Amino acid sequence: MQPEDSHSPKNERNPSRTEVEETVALLKALVSGSIDEIECPSCRRHCMRVWFTNPAQAEFRTWFVCSHCGAKRRVQDSCRPRFYREDLRNKELEAYDRELLSSRRLKPE
Ligand SMILES: [Zn+2]
Repeated sequence: MQPEDSHSPKNERNPSRTEVEETVALLKALVSGSIDEIECPSCRRHCMRVWFTNPAQAEFRTWFVCSHCGAKRRVQDSCRPRFYREDLRNKELEAYDRELLSSRRLKPE
């Protein structure tokens, strides 16, 4: 398997089915109450944890980041996520999301 660059906008726009399935599994773990020690889809270690970002007023993102292999999954939320917690808000990821948002606004699709 090739390492994935989840920062690539191409991946984000057209994620492979496997990646979608992996993300669904991560979201299921979150729904069941896990915010860390979630199984990483890349290295299979229980090293993934959840982060949230709030890059704009009504924009929320849920991130899964593996502390072992660095794998990342990002979910765009249409509203404030049910499990959103201010103490799990990640400023670094949020800066990235904010940048992505503003670059999107510049080029209409
Ligand atoms: Zn990993």
